Order: sequence, then structure tokens, then C-alpha cells
Amino acid sequence: MSGELQPPRSRIDEIDRQLVELVAERMNAVREIGKSKSTDTEAPLRDHSREQEVQAHWQDEAETHGLSSYFTGRILREVMNYSRRVQEELLDRSQDATHVRHLRVGFQGVAGSYSDLTLTKLFSERPQCRLERKGFSSFARAVDALENGDLDYALLPIENTIAGSLNETYQLLANRQLSIVDEEILPVDHCLVGLAGADVEQLRVIRSHPVALQQCTIWLNKLSNCATEGTTDTASSAEMLLANNDPHEAAICSEEAAGRLGLTILQRNIANQAHNYTRFVLVGRDPEPVDSRRPARMSLILMVNHRRGSLAKCLEAFARRQINLTKLESRAKPESPWEYQFYLDIEGHRDDPRIKEALDEISTHANTLKELGCYPRRSVFGEDLVPEEHVAEEVVAAPQTTSQAEIKVVSNSGLRRSGRKPAHEPSIVKIGGVPVGAGHFMLIAGPCAVETRAQITAGARMVREAGGQVLRGGAFKPRSSPYSFQGLGFPGLELLCEAGAAYELPVITEVLRLEDVNRIAQSADALQVGARNMQNFELLKKLGKVDRPVLLKRGLSATVADLLAAAEYIMAGGNQQVILCERGIRTFETATRSTLDISAIPVLKERTHLPVIVDPSHAAGRRELVLPLAAAAVAAGADGLIVECHPDPDNALCDKEQALTREDLDELVAIIKGLGRMN
Ligand code: PEP
Ligand code: MN
Repeated sequence: MSGELQPPRSRIDEIDRQLVELVAERMNAVREIGKSKSTDTEAPLRDHSREQEVQAHWQDEAETHGLSSYFTGRILREVMNYSRRVQEELLDRSQDATHVRHLRVGFQGVAGSYSDLTLTKLFSERPQCRLERKGFSSFARAVDALENGDLDYALLPIENTIAGSLNETYQLLANRQLSIVDEEILPVDHCLVGLAGADVEQLRVIRSHPVALQQCTIWLNKLSNCATEGTTDTASSAEMLLANNDPHEAAICSEEAAGRLGLTILQRNIANQAHNYTRFVLVGRDPEPVDSRRPARMSLILMVNHRRGSLAKCLEAFARRQINLTKLESRAKPESPWEYQFYLDIEGHRDDPRIKEALDEISTHANTLKELGCYPRRSVFGEDLVPEEHVAEEVVAAPQTTSQAEIKVVSNSGLRRSGRKPAHEPSIVKIGGVPVGAGHFMLIAGPCAVETRAQITAGARMVREAGGQVLRGGAFKPRSSPYSFQGLGFPGLELLCEAGAAYELPVITEVLRLEDVNRIAQSADALQVGARNMQNFELLKKLGKVDRPVLLKRGLSATVADLLAAAEYIMAGGNQQVILCERGIRTFETATRSTLDISAIPVLKERTHLPVIVDPSHAAGRRELVLPLAAAAVAAGADGLIVECHPDPDNALCDKEQALTREDLDELVAIIKGLGRMN
């Protein structure tokens, strides 16, 4: 190492040591608060205004030091997740926090498997628990040991975001006397690992757990002459590789498993989807209490009697009481073909009177109703879990009866799907998990067109730091002149997705041609139909067949009725995820690029349940006009905005006159907040 690097490196080491020390001190303070929350059972677990205050201080502090508020914000988010976890654990275990509990926990696999990593995460904040981990060759063996009393708990993977539910776990839950007492969600990053110096092109066999192999099919299919082989778990495939010592073999496992065995990572992130999560359940022999302030989930198995509408009646019992159903799955009973068991997850606590009533009612329509457990509900990042009461408050409409819901559409003939029915709730559409509609406000921002990697990355950064939730960027541009920049096409889309992923922003891009729909839908989180294509009916029909939200822009000379009829085309094809966009229309006025039709917002709200957002950028055509128009749109009830911004507006290749700067974006967010539509 060259001499001049030594002093700064020593400084970094010292700072890191202090950072850890400070985190430990912070957690001590967090624990103190947690203890008082655990004795005062009236105190809410989370104080949202306090959390916002902490975030604001952190952001101000970061900015005064010239640091990126986005990246420092991510650090705070993790620190706060950790703090929350610490307090939650105190709640349920405050009674015996002082005496150490020895727990024997079983899982399938060997040290370093994903189950093993999950146990570390799940028990990280229970210092009073001493874990004795035991690996088994199958889920069933771990459950046998639990039933025999050789274990206190067993950890079982239950579902994966790519591969789906694990049948074997469901069968065990159905057939054995087990209680789910906790859950954990693990982000899974599959790595291809080999011996040092191994060449991917020369591999002949790749081993892993069959579910892991299934999650990596796209990448694996690119290899020729290479077979795959299933093993009991990912980490044991790595152990086998080490034992065989053959450079033509490889394994798929976690980075941690590879690290333990000193294996080399040949390729990271080889799963079919960038986001890959596995949910595990911790099962015990008996149910355990959950503090009523913690978000909770209940799992149930149901077999309905063979009468018409039985299942619908069961589900209605939840819906009427505003109980959120998070999972419904039907599985054939292996011992009696064509008979089905339904697996349900609902949000809430066993002691909640609404849940008790619903379960009582359901038991009258069911042959069997088995409670698998009530346990703390976890989310991927821990930050967006809302206790059940908040969810109930957000529901806008009063509970409806079937007859109310069936009331005929008024003055909206032909709009069977997009039309607003009396007492019909406004719809929520989600772009990559971000909701719009029914009170949820969405800010979409980004450049008119994707130009270069540096430009779209800087664009994504400015959107993220200003508080935007979705990144826009055109890869295919519908330009009025054939000589103008037409967009980068698919390489542009790739850059957009890359920038979105780097800043955790879902992305939206315009689709111009029928034949591009499926390919764009594979990588973008939402597709935009531009004003010039609003009545391209073949394109709309095709979009009716994809499972991606569509932002439908109002045509330059289209009436509100035309816009709704266009939405109806998409919805009639089966895709109900439509967001409408007012972006200005052609009038005799030439002072603005288009005339923003503010009245379209309340008119659309009268006629449709779909979310309505506004694009003030293309209406204005000039930067100075974008903010006042945006303010008017928000005040008139728009569910969101889509605006154009650019890291270097003067040199933008497309629509540079209307591109907002970072400062403009900040001002825009302040306006939206001032109108009470964003936190
Ligand atoms: C755009 O959003 O980039 C665009 C071309 O908008 P519009 O279709 O509304 O003109
Ligand atoms: Mn544009």
C-alpha cells in the first residue's frame, strides 16, 4: 500500500469504531424508551410525527455538510428499522428480559444456508435468547424433532417472491399440530460460486436447492452444456463443490455461505428478478401472545362446504369488517383429488373482536377452519407497516352491500369498467409498489428523454432527493419533427431501469408501438401512452393484456369522454390498472404550449373511479409556468403530478424549455406539502 493512503485509512478505521460506538449508545437510549413503552400499555409503539422530526433533522444536518440526503437518509432508515426492532422485541419479552432462555431451533440445511441467515436476523435483537441451531436434512425431520420435544422451534421457508409458495411447508402446517409464532423476510441475493480461477464458460454442473435453481432459470439457460442438480439446501451445494474440488462444478448460494468456505463468487445477482425475497415462519408447538400494538398477521386453513358461494361468503366476512386479506391460495388435498384447501393470511390480531366475529361467521360456511397462528407481521424494510387501525381509517367508502355495489352506472353509458358508480370507492393503482388514488398522492418526475447513463443517473438522483416517487424518462420519443431526437430505444430503457434501481425508484416510460409492448412491460414498472397515441386502439387493446399499470395521457384534441373511452379499451382487455393524465389540449390560445384543462380534474373525478394525475410540463411548455399550473392542479384535486426535470436543462436534447431544475423540484414539493398532499 502506498504511504499516503495510510493516514486517511487509519482515520477511517477510527471513525468507523466511533460510529459503531455511537450506534450502540443510540440503541441504549432506544431501549430506555422501549422499556417505558412496554410498561405503559397505552403508549403507541410508533410516533409518526416524532419519526418525521428525526428525519428532518437528519436531512438538514446532512445538507449543511454537503452530503447526499438520499444516501444519508438510507442510513437513517436502517438505523430506525433497527431501533424499531429493538423496541418491538422488548414489548413481548419484557417480562423475562432478565433471564436467559436457551432455545433449540431447527432448520433444513447446514450452516450458512438462507434459513441459518434468517435465524440470525430474526433473533438479532433478543439478547436474552441463546440459540442452539440444529440443521436437518428435510423440513419434515425438523418438524418431527419439534413435535418430539427435541426442539423449541423450527424455521420453515413458506414463500418466495419468484418461486411462489413452498408446498411442503404448507402440507406440514396442514397436517401437524404446529403454531406459527413469528415470521421473517430475507432478501435473497443468489451468487454463482466456484473454485478460484473457475471459468463460467467451462462449467458442466451447477448445484443448488431446486427452488434456488428455479429462481435463476433465465441466467442458467444462457449456459450451454451445463446441467443443474438439486441439493437439500444452497449451502450444502457449496460444501459439495469444495469436497469435489472440480473447477467444472459450481453452486448457487449466499455470499455468506461462499465466504465461510473460501469459495469464489463468479457472478452476483443471478436471479430472474432483481427483487427476490423469501418469507420464513417460525413454528412452535403452542400459540404465543403478540402485543396488540405490533402489526400482526394471522394464517388460516379453510375447507369450505360444497355449497354455491361458500368461499365468497367467507371472504365477505372479512371484507365487511375491513379486515385485509393478504394472501389466498388454494391447494389440492393430496389424499382426496379435486378437493381443495384454502390458505389465507389476514392482517390483525387474534383478540381483535372484528376477527373473532369474522371467524365465527366463517365457521358456519366451512367444513374445517384451522388457525395456524397469529404472529408479528414483518415487511421487507420494516418502514411501511401500518397498524391495522390506520388501514381501516383510510378506507374511504362505507361498507357496501351487494345491492349498492350493483347500482347502475349513471350518465356514463358504455363505461362499464372505468365509469364511476355511486358509492364506488376510488381505485388505487400502484407503480412498483407506490400507490396513487384514494388519497395517495404520487409525484412522477424525470427527464423528457433518456440521453446518457450520466444524465439519467443524475436525473434519478435529483428526483429521489427532492422527494419524487417514480422516475420518468422516454426511450422512444414521439417527436413532431422526424429530424428531432427520437430517443435511444431499448438501450435507453435499460439505462432508465438501471438508474431507477440505483435510487430505488420505479420507472415509467412511453410505448409507441404495438410490437414493443411486451418487451417494455418486462422491465418498466409502468407504461405511458402519449397524447398522440390516445386513440391508437390496437395499442390500447394490447395494453389491456399486460399486467403493468398504464398512464394514459389525454389526446391533444380529445374530450374527457374520449379519454374515458380510451381507458375503457384497456380495461375491457382485462387490465384495470389505468391512471388518467390531463396534459393540456389544443385551443386557439398560443401563449402556452397547450391549454391545461383544470376543469377536467373535477369532471373526471365525478365520472370515474380511476386516479387522475396532471402533467403541467407539456401544458406549460415553459419552466416558469410549470409550478403555478401544478399548484392549480393539486388544489383542484389531482391525485398526482408528472413533471419533466433535467440535471442540465440548457443542454437537454428534448423539451429543454420546460425542464425543471433541482431547485424548482424542491419548490414544487414544498407547494404540494403546503396543500397538505404530501408528508
Ligand atoms: C412525454 O410525456 O414525454 C410526452 C411526449 O407527453 P405527451 O404525450 O403528453 O405530449
Ligand atoms: Mn417531453
